[in-house]
This record gives sequence, structure tokens and C-alpha cells, in this order.
Amino acid sequence: MNTQFFAAWIEEIATAVRAQRDHLTQLDAAIGDADHGANLDRGFTAAQEALAGASPQTPGALLVLVGSTLIRKVGGASGPLYGTAFREMGKAFGEAPEISPAELSTGLNAALAGVQRLGAAAEGDKTMVDALAPAAEALAQAVRDGLKPEEALEAAAAAAEQGARATVPLQARKGRASYLGPRSVGHEDPGAASTALLFGALKAAASR
Ligand code: ADP
Ligand code: MG
Repeated sequence: MNTQFFAAWIEEIATAVRAQRDHLTQLDAAIGDADHGANLDRGFTAAQEALAGASPQTPGALLVLVGSTLIRKVGGASGPLYGTAFREMGKAFGEAPEISPAELSTGLNAALAGVQRLGAAAEGDKTMVDALAPAAEALAQAVRDGLKPEEALEAAAAAAEQGARATVPLQARKGRASYLGPRSVGHEDPGAASTALLFGALKAAASR
């Protein structure tokens, strides 16, 4: 997976976020403040513009730029959290021109660690961690099992989807939704849903 692959990933994310903008906003309307779709649309549109302007030469530099742009452009909880995730993944990739599935797995673990360091959410708190953690684990398992890259990304995307769906019966313990207490039960977490979308976009980038 080279720089062009990661640029394709960001394009796929921007397209998917635009298409799902209203859906993400509706999820956030139920247990938050109805801005998650708009936040991410603004952030990934800005990230695409930043990439077009700077043409980073390595996957690491590209992801660090995406992360910094998200932190700058997206308000709320999700901007700093996603921004940190992309920056940590980029930093884990260093200067490498080509990223193997094993290195991607290492990068995702770094992203997860960054999100948890900043947001202090554990699995089951009804946040993006509920999609990110199982996706990172599924990719690690796929690498251990020696699956082909496309199969590994498929497994990660499926795990993220499942993790997002599994947030529905949970009560939120972090973020804005936690203010609702038991009334947060019965709704999918918007950040977990958008994380599933990011992994769907990763799979889509691989099958281009
Ligand atoms: P805000 O809640 O500030 O309006 P967004 O609506 O853009 O920001 O994002 C909300 C999402 O952010 C939640 O659905 C949840 O997945 C995620 N989130 C909030 N707080 C945390 C946290 N402490 N750790 C991990 N994810 C969090
Ligand atoms: Mg919100």
C-alpha cells in the first residue's frame, strides 16, 4: 500500500461521508447535538484540499497531514480524536514508501492507543472505540493468519460494522451521549458508525 493507495482511501472516505452525512447527523441528533455528519464532511473535504495542495510523498506524511487538518477543521469531540488517530498512524509508518498489512496493523494499533489516551474510552463505553478496537484486532488476526491484503481489509471492515451495530443496546459512558444516561440506550453511536464507514472506505480503496 503506497502513498497513492492512502490518497485513494481519503477520497473514498470523503465520498462516503458526503453520502452518509445526513445519516450520521440523524444518529447524532438522537443522542448528541446533530453535528457529526457536518463535522466529518467539513473535515474530510478540508483534508482532500490539503492533500491536493501539499502532495505528500509518503503514506506517513499523508496521514499526518490528514490528522492535523482534522484537528484544525473539525470541532467537537470527534475532530481531535480522529485527528489523533490519523496522526498516530502516520507517525507509526515513518518514512516508509510502502506499507505492508502487518505495518498497517501496527499503525491501527497506534491510532487506537492515541484515541484511548486522549478520550479515555474503553470498549463498551459506546464510542468510536467500539468499532476501532475490533477492527484493529481483526486486522491483527488476519495478518497472523496470513490472509491476503483484500481479505484482511474485508475482515477489518466487517468487524468495525459489527462493532458499530453492537453499540445500539449500550448505555454511553463517554462523550455527549453519556449526559443522557439510560436514554442513550437503543441508538447506534454516531462515531462508531463513522468509524465503520472509514473501514468500508479502506476496503473500497483496496479494490480500486
Ligand atoms: P461532539 O460530541 O462534540 O458533538 P461529534 O458529534 O462530531 O462531536 O462526535 C461524537 C462522537 O465522538 C461520539 O459518537 C463518539 O463516538 C465519539 N466520542 C465522544 N467522546 C469520546 C471519547 N471520550 N472517546 C472516544 N470517542 C468519543
Ligand atoms: Mg455531535
